[in-house]
Amino acid sequence: MAAMRVVTSLGVLASVGAACGDDGGGGGRVTAVTGPPPLVVPATFAPPVPHPAAISSTFGPRWKISAGRTDFHPGVDWFDAEGTPVTAIGDGVVEAVYPDGSTQFPLGGNVVAIRHALPTPVRFHGRDVDRLFAVYLHLQTIGVSPGQAVTRGQPIGAMGQTGDTDFVHLHFEIRLQTMCSLPYQREHPDAGCVTGFDPHVHPRLVIPGPDDDAITLAPIAPSPGDAYAVRYTATRGDLDLDAIATDAGALGFDARRGLDASSLATLDDFRYPWLTLAPQPFASTDEVLVMDLHFPTRPAFVEVRDLDGDGLRLTP
Ligand SMILES: [Zn+2]
Repeated sequence: MAAMRVVTSLGVLASVGAACGDDGGGGGRVTAVTGPPPLVVPATFAPPVPHPAAISSTFGPRWKISAGRTDFHPGVDWFDAEGTPVTAIGDGVVEAVYPDGSTQFPLGGNVVAIRHALPTPVRFHGRDVDRLFAVYLHLQTIGVSPGQAVTRGQPIGAMGQTGDTDFVHLHFEIRLQTMCSLPYQREHPDAGCVTGFDPHVHPRLVIPGPDDDAITLAPIAPSPGDAYAVRYTATRGDLDLDAIATDAGALGFDARRGLDASSLATLDDFRYPWLTLAPQPFASTDEVLVMDLHFPTRPAFVEVRDLDGDGLRLTP
């Protein structure tokens, strides 16, 4: 893995040098960086779909094609044929089912939530987390009932297009400790679900997936108002971006570091004082995920890291 990283970095160096003359941002030096993972959840679950590489939206900042805007995607979208079996990621208990049109998931179509115990607790935002919830949206059919025990790999429904979506896919979320989002906790303090943190984390934290570390980071021509701009790309084998940092600020998507998750409006707005994120459309036919980083002040360095703590540092 480390050797592949170096090759990737050298490839980026070559392209940075070639782009030097016309990008207006000068060249740059790209080096590999490694650090501790943002969060280690002591459990391994199985993918809920038969083709886990068929991802059309990953966790975190994205351009939402159907809405024509950016949003913070709280899960992973897997596409496949309508009716494809969707399976439990591990042994657990059905927490709830929400038929199409529910008040809890008005846009989610048919929804199933399954509770899974963690063998040992994990610390998250200063609290011990001893359970997680796997949440399945847009199902064609629901195949389980509340309170039912399920086993790893057991079909719990079929992939569909119910709710607010324009294609057949499973929107899948992992929520730590509580089903209640942070905005919901704020609006319903008496609902008995206040943890003080937003529970959504990248499903890849607990479901193994490809980790090719095939990412690039390179200067691009700044837009009006930018002092500097950088393009980040990732292949389908590395859809687990977790952190972006410069000398001026830091974002951690899974730990919600540097983000305001208290409302959807603030979570979906990627204009931070030190950085504006511009994710590009990424659809089921695209092979490369692209996100541009616009800086109002030229940074001393730009660093990106994935869920394993691996990443790249660009020094302008
Ligand atoms: Zn989704």
